[in-house]
Amino acid sequence: MRFFLAMKELANIEDFGDDVVAFKFRNARMAGGLRGLAALLALVFFLAAPSGARAGDPLPHRLFSIDLTGDDQSTTVMLQFDREPELVLKMLRGPERLILDLPATAFEMPSEEVVPKGLIQSIRYGAMDSERSRIVIGLGGPFTLEGPVRTTDENGHHQLTLQLDTASRNAFEAMLRDRAAPADAIAVSTQKNGRLDGNTAQDKPFTVVVDAGHGGIDIGARGRNGAKEKDITLAFARQLKKQIEKIDGVRVILTRDDDSFVSLSQRVRIGRQAGADLFVSVHADSVRQAYVRGATVYTISKKASDAMAAELADSENAADAVAGLDLPEEDEEVTDILLDLTRRETKGFSLRFARKVVDSMEEVLVMIKRPHRHAGFRVLTAPDVPSILIELGYLSNKNDEKLLQDEDWRRKAAAAIAAAVKKYANVRMAAFR
Ligand SMILES: [Zn+2]
Repeated sequence: MRFFLAMKELANIEDFGDDVVAFKFRNARMAGGLRGLAALLALVFFLAAPSGARAGDPLPHRLFSIDLTGDDQSTTVMLQFDREPELVLKMLRGPERLILDLPATAFEMPSEEVVPKGLIQSIRYGAMDSERSRIVIGLGGPFTLEGPVRTTDENGHHQLTLQLDTASRNAFEAMLRDRAAPADAIAVSTQKNGRLDGNTAQDKPFTVVVDAGHGGIDIGARGRNGAKEKDITLAFARQLKKQIEKIDGVRVILTRDDDSFVSLSQRVRIGRQAGADLFVSVHADSVRQAYVRGATVYTISKKASDAMAAELADSENAADAVAGLDLPEEDEEVTDILLDLTRRETKGFSLRFARKVVDSMEEVLVMIKRPHRHAGFRVLTAPDVPSILIELGYLSNKNDEKLLQDEDWRRKAAAAIAAAVKKYANVRMAAFR
């Protein structure tokens, strides 16, 4: 065991598949020729001693600052922590990004102090879940990476320095290839659905999955007065759960109940694994037209009902990219006849439910003109779960922003949606009796 621990001091190197390569250093001096040997031994270490070593480390790391210096040829990123964090670096292409995966981290610097500079075009950070945080650095083009170099300053703070240089496409691709080694860490790191029972028994209760849009590093839209969509959707999802659970024989599962990032495909999977009878995704996005306001109910379709719906779906579908995940290839056209039938039936149920929600909300709330719209939202793609997405209002509109943060309004809106769920569920449950 002592041998393995010694190797851990040298390096852990992991591979995330074709497009993502990660390499984890415990010691920056380790380099070059040792790397291959270390990769092999690190893999052995990984198999022999899976995580858990950090279980006794409950306090989040504190990140005091992210300093960027340099120009559009060469930029240095320096992070200052209270103590040394585990770090996994990943490089992605399309667009080029550098990802820093960290243990739970409190980001203590004011966000206005983190300004993109030099090679760096964007910088986002936040929680992925209660144990992991992430920083996503967007670059304007191919780059090479040196570091991290780890130092300690006079206050005992741990400093981590990364050097990014502009590079040719070939050099960038070579760096991706160079770092390659086994183990699909993306898949491992995004699995967190152990809490689902996957119950598909006939006598399971009528199940509604309520999906709070965005979360963690993916903030979603921002209101003119600073409200964050991810907070609004979570508060609303909890209220909606409360209202729906008043209905006899109906249970509710939330796709997230805290400020963590959940990918779009995970959200769909949670619905399917729960054998959900309904999937309701809640949002409060921004649109370019600041006068647009009011609730809107969306169902899925290949062709969008209007330009605004198409734009919304596009920005919504980019949620995974915001958090530094690669977008999957478009699904291949499925020709399975049974699945086609299921899909068609599911679509019918989605439409029926959407109409009930519109009717019910219209009685008590401001709705947009033509409140039922459709577009290609990825989060609505489960073939066997009737799904809708509700834009509660638009954060680009000041009046909506105020309402969306109002507890009374939330309760009223959630009760209206719950009333529609009740009507729909009664019909469906009667059909099975
Ligand atoms: Zn949204």
